[in-house]
Amino acid sequence: DLPPLLIGSHLDSQPSGGRFDGALGTLCAFEVLETLEDHGIETERTVEVVAFTNEEGCRFAPGCMGSMAFSQKSIPEAWQSVKATDGALFTDELAATLSDLQGAAMRPLGFPVFAYLEVHIEQGPSLEKQGLPIGIVTGIQGTRWLQATISGQTAHAGTTALSYRKDPMHAAISGLNVLYGEIMPGDDQSRLTVGRFSLEPGAINAIPATVRFSLDIRHPNSVQLDLIEARVRKILQEHARLHGCDLAMELLFDMAPARFPDHLTGILENAAIRAGFAHTSMVSGAFHDALFVNRIAPSAMIFTPCRDGLSHNEAEYVEPAHSIAGAQVLLHASTKLLSEVLPDMLTDGRI
Ligand SMILES: [Zn+2]
Repeated sequence: DLPPLLIGSHLDSQPSGGRFDGALGTLCAFEVLETLEDHGIETERTVEVVAFTNEEGCRFAPGCMGSMAFSQKSIPEAWQSVKATDGALFTDELAATLSDLQGAAMRPLGFPVFAYLEVHIEQGPSLEKQGLPIGIVTGIQGTRWLQATISGQTAHAGTTALSYRKDPMHAAISGLNVLYGEIMPGDDQSRLTVGRFSLEPGAINAIPATVRFSLDIRHPNSVQLDLIEARVRKILQEHARLHGCDLAMELLFDMAPARFPDHLTGILENAAIRAGFAHTSMVSGAFHDALFVNRIAPSAMIFTPCRDGLSHNEAEYVEPAHSIAGAQVLLHASTKLLSEVLPDMLTDGRI
């Protein structure tokens, strides 16, 4: 009953997502199982493939629900009320999914895991620019999702002079302009993105009553991430007040930066060397399931390049040679980890 080696990724996607984000890592994991089987290798320690639920977080927030629940060993109570952007309740959709999987055995969340390895596309341009087929991920930058709601007063667009306006759109634009001007230009490891924006009531000839928008902020250092969040809150508050509006901020998601264990990234590096692939170490700009699994079991990731660094886009593409490189490094690292109970398997030339 040795804890299993877990390999895999996720299978959900973005509304305009590509074919490789998540799917590549899941298929690489199956490829490892097939290769072990092709060679007639029976491992003492089980190797299990995992495809975590809702990694992307674009229909239901937060992202990484599957790996988060797994690492906490339970489904957080707050998810009972989580609704999709299309109005569906998370709990209803989860129940429907489970009832479609009646052949599958239910497993306890957070069962003991020996180690977790995940292949994933880089989702950025750096490996392609350096001409390298493999990135060894040493850690993941922290991410916070905030929702800002600025409330003013809806009024006639033609008859309301400037001094009578409580215009939340004006407050949002002027505040965001300050933040865009200082956060990323001031520190090239900082990230600030507003990806969702809505105005109510949404009439062409009315000052909006409410403006609501998302803020995605990231940094590899948690102290810096705190400073960015504080700055966002302060500036938006100032600009809301300046325009006679009120600001409400909600923290939707908070993921601390992670560092993967050195012994595991060392195994990945040796695996890349054994498989004959040039590689580099890097910090992931995107969050991944491995970040959460790393809280309960040693975890690490292998990145492959993607064309033009493009992801969350239907044009996302990975060269077949790079997909193969990812799968081979995963295989070599997996067999190395399994050799702790099967020392002869690596030495007799069968792998
Ligand atoms: Zn992904």
